Amino acid sequence: MRQALVAGNWKMHGSRSSVDELLKALLGGSLPSQVEVAVCPTYVHLAQALALCAGTSVAVGAQDCSHMQAGAFTGEVAPAMLVDQGCDWVILGHSERRQYHAESDDLVSAKLAAAVEAGLSPIVCVGETREQREAGEAEAVVGAQLQGALSGHASLAGLVVAYEPVWAIGTGLTASPEQAQEMHAFIRGQLAGIGEIEADATRILYGGSVKPGNAAELFAKDDIDGALVGGAALVAQDFLAIINAAA
Ligand code: PEP
Repeated sequence: MRQALVAGNWKMHGSRSSVDELLKALLGGSLPSQVEVAVCPTYVHLAQALALCAGTSVAVGAQDCSHMQAGAFTGEVAPAMLVDQGCDWVILGHSERRQYHAESDDLVSAKLAAAVEAGLSPIVCVGETREQREAGEAEAVVGAQLQGALSGHASLAGLVVAYEPVWAIGTGLTASPEQAQEMHAFIRGQLAGIGEIEADATRILYGGSVKPGNAAELFAKDDIDGALVGGAALVAQDFLAIINAAA
């Protein structure tokens, strides 16, 4: 039995006051114990989020990390530093990092190794563009991303994969529950063929315009174990409704 996980990717949003307001509203809401919840603010808001979430059931993660643990890497943040601050999670290979920072599968793989070595739980994102889906290449693209990022690691216990079709992120378009389930089943099949990964125990999240109105039908599918939520995670009542739909 895989425990549902709902993680909020706040992207480059927030201020001291909005983080305070959002987290107080979230922590004051109904958080079902069967659903694991994480929020991933920007680096500069991590300490504030960690302080507010300390002693609660809401975990905190980062949206990225370096592939190195220390050194002359200006602007980077090491996974060991995130652990030292108290973070549990890190998102890796988000499509916006792949698109705007030219992150390759090799780099995602190196970041994954460093994150796991430091003790972070990774959420590795994969997903095809609209052009790739229309060309019938969705499975080939996602399969290659999985192989590129996940193969060759000695141990990936605790790995979470997020399927985020690029055409559904921040667009209001959502994969239908059937489209999402089909890809999640494909991903689980691929995971079964990769080294040490326990495919049946690995949680696969769906991400891409998840809202209170579509969450329950997505979560009803066998291979959808929760969600990585962008825009709706910035509105406490919406994020709470999505969390409760996963219960
Ligand atoms: C995301 O960026 O991970 C995401 C799923 O965004 P949104 O929910 O806004 O589509």
